[in-house]
Order: sequence, then structure tokens, then C-alpha cells
Amino acid sequence: MLRNLGILDHLQKIAVQPQAVLLRSARDGSVKSRLPLGEQAQDRWGASYLTCHRADLQSALLECVTANRGIKLKLDALAQGFCFTGDRVSHPLSDAQFDLLLAADGIWSGLRKEVTSLDARFVGRIAYRAMLSADHPAARAIFGTTPNVHAFMAAGFHTVAYPVSGGTAYNLVVVLPGNETQRGWVQGADLDELRHAFKSTILAPLIAADGWSQWPLYEVPPLESWSRPPNLLLTGDAAHGLTPFAAQGAAMAIEDASVLAGVLDDAGSVAEALAKFERQRKPRIEQVRRRAGFNSFAWHAAGPVALIRDLVLKHRTGAKLMADFDWLYGWRED
Ligand SMILES: Cc1cc2nc3c(=O)[nH]c(=O)nc-3n(C[C@H](O)[C@H](O)[C@H](O)COP(=O)(O)OP(=O)(O)OC[C@H]3O[C@@H](n4cnc5c(N)ncnc54)[C@H](O)[C@@H]3O)c2cc1C
Repeated sequence: MLRNLGILDHLQKIAVQPQAVLLRSARDGSVKSRLPLGEQAQDRWGASYLTCHRADLQSALLECVTANRGIKLKLDALAQGFCFTGDRVSHPLSDAQFDLLLAADGIWSGLRKEVTSLDARFVGRIAYRAMLSADHPAARAIFGTTPNVHAFMAAGFHTVAYPVSGGTAYNLVVVLPGNETQRGWVQGADLDELRHAFKSTILAPLIAADGWSQWPLYEVPPLESWSRPPNLLLTGDAAHGLTPFAAQGAAMAIEDASVLAGVLDDAGSVAEALAKFERQRKPRIEQVRRRAGFNSFAWHAAGPVALIRDLVLKHRTGAKLMADFDWLYGWRED
């Protein structure tokens, strides 16, 4: 999809192509499973598996948006106060009338209440995030010099590290149990919680990473409908915010946009396009939701369950592991 939109060329300049996803024990660092990526991902799924900083993805999107004369971009504008009249939408600050309002206003969407009374719910976990220079001794010691995605499993928590910014840094995400806090990124995370989690693991040196911040994890439960026909549609996290355990929320938001463009092109009316969009996207989103739930269970397992997990992983070849992800990474639009 990013290739079709002309975004991939921009992104490839700064994104990293990791060689594998390594599932590792947080306790001793041993590799329990290796999902091959690199050229093998390209050959099997028809596109590279890339990791990048969110700002770099947004810059690549922005370059394409500003080069497209059909798009008017207005930043720093609060999207609120819309009027829905018949099948048209308008806004007090504009004379224009529109066919459709796309609410892509994220996990804490204000427009969601126009569609459903259900809201995002806290899942009892906090994500801690920081960046670590790839040259830092802790990065070299724990991640080595080959670009890989590392997922460290431990009883009750996990840590994911992946290379970004042309391989000069690692993005670190640690997910711990916690209580509901202020929504959004809070700078200056509680490092005592992290230190406590990292005790008796190989991850302790990661505490030296720059600017730990924290974010309470929410999800949007499956909604009966993502739209209020004929002219309002929720997309991305506003419609189906997922926990990040399958690393797919932004990917699903991008898929939404591409599928929506296709159905709007093909359908006879906006209402028909909305119905087709929901029919296509809902099974896909629910499959990703199940995968995220499974990862959460498997990565945080303790005791005998963890032993069985490690045994199962040990006997899975790289080819078998890749086949397990065909439905996710090999997916194509209808
Ligand atoms: C710790 C963590 C790790 C993650 N890792 C991954 C990953 O590896 N891969 C992946 O694919 N996804 C990942 N995700 C998920 C990903 O961040 C989200 O799914 C994605 O950002 C959703 O995109 P969106 O455009 O729907 O919403 P957002 O990115 O939240 O964008 C919504 C925007 O709307 C703005 N907004 C809200 N209300 C208004 C308003 N009234 N007017 C104007 N603007 C408004 C918000 O400020 C925000 O900028 C992760 C999430 C977390 C928390």
C-alpha cells in the first residue's frame, strides 16, 4: 500500500530492514524463537518488513501529501462543531458541504460518541517508552550489531526493542501492569517500577536510555458499527484501537485508509461504500485483536505455561513461523 501511494521510497531512506524478530527470555537473553525477515520477508510477503520512528513515517506521509495538489492540509485545527444536515456535513469555519466526515481522531476519539455509547477502556497496563543510541554499550551488549527486532518475555511483562532512524537508535517499549493514569504520553516515567521489573533480567542496563515516558494502554471494544450513515465513519484507533501486542494499530489505520479509498472509488454511493468497508475490515481487525490477546498471554506467561511455550517455540522452524504470519503480513486488499 505504501508503495502504491509513493510513500515507500521516502520511507526506505530512513527505515531499517531488520533481519529477524527474536523472541528472547528476559531473564538470561536466550533466543527462544527466530522469525526470519530481511530478504525472506520480501520474497514471501511481497514487501520488506521495515521498522521506523513514528516521526519518520509521518514525514514520509507529509512529503506525499504536500506534493498532492488534491489535498489541502490544515494543521493545529481542532476538529469539532460539525453539522450533519441530511446526507451532507459542514463546518462553521468553511462554506463547503461534504459527503463524508472521516473521524481519525485516535483512541480517545471525541467523534466516537456520535456513533456509539461505548468508549475506550483501560486494559490494566502501562507502556514505558525510551530511545537508546545503537552505540550505547547497553545496546551493543543486549542487541548486538545485526539489526533485529527483540521481544523479551518475562512473567507478567514484556519489552520490545527495534532499530529506527537509519539504525542509529533503538526504540524501547516495556509493558508493565499498572493503574490508570493521565491519558497520553507522560514525560518522566516512574523508573522505580522499571527497575523493579528489570531486576533479575538482562535488561537492567536499559534504564540508562534517554527520556523514559509512559502511556496507559486502552482498547476500543468491538463496535457493532463504525459508522453513522450516510456521512460519518470512524477509522483507525477511533474505530478499533487495539493493544500494541501485535504491533499493528498504525498498520491497521493505514490499511483502513487504503481500503476506504478503493471502496469509495467502486461503490455507487457513500452509504454503500461504508457498508462494504465495514464488511471487509471487521474480520481482519478481529483477527489482529485475537493475535494481540494471544501474544499478551504467551509473552507474559510464567511457570509451567512458560515452559510449554518455550518447548513449542523450540520445535518451530523459521519457515513454519513465517507461514504462521502469512495471514497478517501477506494480506492483500480484495
Ligand atoms: C506503546 C505503543 C506502541 C505501539 N506500537 C505500534 C507498532 O509497533 N506498530 C503499529 O502499527 N502500531 C503501534 N501502536 C499503535 C499506533 O500508535 C496507533 O494504532 C496509531 O497511532 C493509530 O493511528 P490513528 O491515526 O488512528 O490515531 P492517532 O495516531 O492517535 O492520531 C489521532 C490524532 O488525532 C488528534 N485529534 C484527536 N481529537 C482531535 C480533534 N478534535 N481535532 C483535531 N485533532 C484531534 C490526536 O491529537 C492525534 O494526533 C502502538 C501504540 C502504543 C501505545
